[in-house]
Amino acid sequence: MCRHLAYLGRAMPIASLLYDAPHSLEHQSYAPGDMRAGGTVNVDGYGVGWFPGPVRYRRAGTLWSDPNLRQLAGTESAAFLAAVRSATTGMPVSDAACAPFTDGTWLFSHNGRVDGWPHSVAELAKTLDVTDLLTMDAPTDSALLWTVLRRRLETGKNPAQTLVELVQEVADAAPKSRLNFLLTNGEVLVGTTWTHALWVLQRGEGVTLASEPLDDDPGWREIPDRHVITAVPSTVEVRPL
Ligand code: GLN
Repeated sequence: MCRHLAYLGRAMPIASLLYDAPHSLEHQSYAPGDMRAGGTVNVDGYGVGWFPGPVRYRRAGTLWSDPNLRQLAGTESAAFLAAVRSATTGMPVSDAACAPFTDGTWLFSHNGRVDGWPHSVAELAKTLDVTDLLTMDAPTDSALLWTVLRRRLETGKNPAQTLVELVQEVADAAPKSRLNFLLTNGEVLVGTTWTHALWVLQRGEGVTLASEPLDDDPGWREIPDRHVITAVPSTVEVRPL
């Protein structure tokens, strides 16, 4: 299943987590340590978004073979989110199916899958208007969840609460789903754990959330399953879903 990460804090080159860390996202794309639910590698696509902006770049294919991203990753950013994708069986492989998804304010990533897709979430899809459905990035579970979420975030509701409610609704409709989310607007990081791993590290003036620890810093803490995490560099709050 996909691997993803998000960073918030003192500005640093995106490359430091994408390429330079011992177990960077690039390394996790071909040698992940904790894949669950069948996947072995994350080679169907990748993406990164950063603030200010957000500026978003995503491509189908393998992260390690893209010299353009290597150049872009020299950018220093105080808030960014990146993902590598292992497409769920039956879902299309295309640039637009890759995280992060964005509405120009938020960056969003989903590690997991909606069980019984698409029938299990037909009722959720019906809450969207036709234009939203026709302009979805891709016909995938993650893109549908993002389309629902972006509409709800527009109301200005608390982002952590909005994510929690989405997890609960999808889990009720499709109980065997895997729903690890990451969301940021450049001011706060929000994440959920629902059957996949997520770790947090507060170091110096920054905080990182990641599917797998990026190095051997003993400060990495695993978020328990079925929890929501809200993080800024100085404060991390973890509570049960
Ligand atoms: N189901 C999503 C997709 O196919 C996410 C896949 C994953 O987490 N491996 O894009």
